[in-house]
This record gives sequence, C-alpha cells and structure tokens, in this order.
Amino acid sequence: MLIIAIVVVIGSLALAGVFNRHTPPAPEPEVVVPVAPVVTVAIDPGHGGRDPGGVADDVLEKDVNLEIANRLAELVAAQPGLKAVLTRTSDVTVDNQLRLQLAESAGAVLYLSVHVNSYDDPSVNGAETLVDDTRSQDDPSWKLAESVQNALISATGARDRGVRQQGLYLEHTKLPAVSAEVGFLTSTEERAKLLDPSYQDKIAQGLLQGILDYLHAAGALKEQV
Ligand SMILES: [Zn+2]
Repeated sequence: MLIIAIVVVIGSLALAGVFNRHTPPAPEPEVVVPVAPVVTVAIDPGHGGRDPGGVADDVLEKDVNLEIANRLAELVAAQPGLKAVLTRTSDVTVDNQLRLQLAESAGAVLYLSVHVNSYDDPSVNGAETLVDDTRSQDDPSWKLAESVQNALISATGARDRGVRQQGLYLEHTKLPAVSAEVGFLTSTEERAKLLDPSYQDKIAQGLLQGILDYLHAAGALKEQV
C-alpha cells in the first residue's frame, strides 16, 4: 500500500508540473509605451472686458488680441506633446496677476502675451517682442523673445522692430515670459492686415514657430514635434 501511495503522490506531482521540464512559457511582458510628457504653454490675449487696450478707428485691441491668441492656441493644441492654456477665451476682464497665476497653476513652461500696438504717429508700423526690464541678461525670456520675434517676422514679413525691454507686469512671474506686439493698430495699412483672418493666421503660425524653436533649443521637446 505504501508503494502505491508513493506512486500516486509522484504521479500527482508530475501532473502538477513539478517534474515537468517543459514548464509553460512565462507570459509575455507587457509592452510599455513611454508616454512623452506634455509641455504646457500659456497664451495670454492681452486686455479684455473693461480694458479695451488700444483703440483705433473703432477697432479694439482686445478683440484683435483674442482672435490671434485663439488661432495660436488651436495651432499649439494640434502639436503632439504640446498643450495650450489661455488666460481668457472671451471678452472678460482678467486681472494681470490672475493671468500669471492661471499660467503657473496650469504648469505652463512659458508665458506668451499677445498684443497689438498703438502710437500717435500713424506712419509707425511693424512687430516687436517685449521682455520685462527687470529680467537679467541670462533670463530665458530673452531667448524666447528672440525666437518669437524672428519667427514672427519671417511668417508675416512685418517690419522688424526687434526685441525690446519695457516695464511690464511680467516681472511678477518667474516663468520665461514675453509680450508680442504683432503690429500697429494705429497704422491704417497695418490695421487692415491685423483684421484680415489670413494675416492673423500668419501671425499665429509665426508665434507657434517661435515657441517651438525656443522649446527645441531648451531641450523641452523631443523629435516628435
Ligand atoms: Zn496691449
């Protein structure tokens, strides 16, 4: 009886695969697709609500800014690995400090404010990009401004007024931050362009390219973009 019992035990163990050299293959390891981190950029349509910004010939700066910023936000959102956060999406009053807080709490890596310029002399035209005058020489805002200004000029063919420094509310954030003044509302010729949807698209394309150039140079984006 003992022998029979041992045989039964051995048989059971064999069936259980203990003595089976050909153990079933281990399940395939799950294929882990690395998820590229999403880079968020803040786009700020300047002014809004009670603050019209510049006004020329019944055209309000705040409206033009919003048109261009909305177009830019769409272009940004269409880029793999990029996400846009707008500080306003309609004609509402938003405090400047709140704009910066919105950008920061959204985890934005940069802040681009979109404006159109005004001046007493209607012959003055062209595009410029502003950096707050408290930023040090090695602040990345300067690189961002160069990228944005260069791409904006090549996309639009506007007169290049360069990168300039000015006292701006952008001093209240540590984010790389610039203000793009994409043209003059007070220039009759340039105002007509700024109101033209196809020219607004060119501006948005230029601003997008400037953002991409900056992010690539900063190593924030991989080849996917
Ligand atoms: Zn403005």
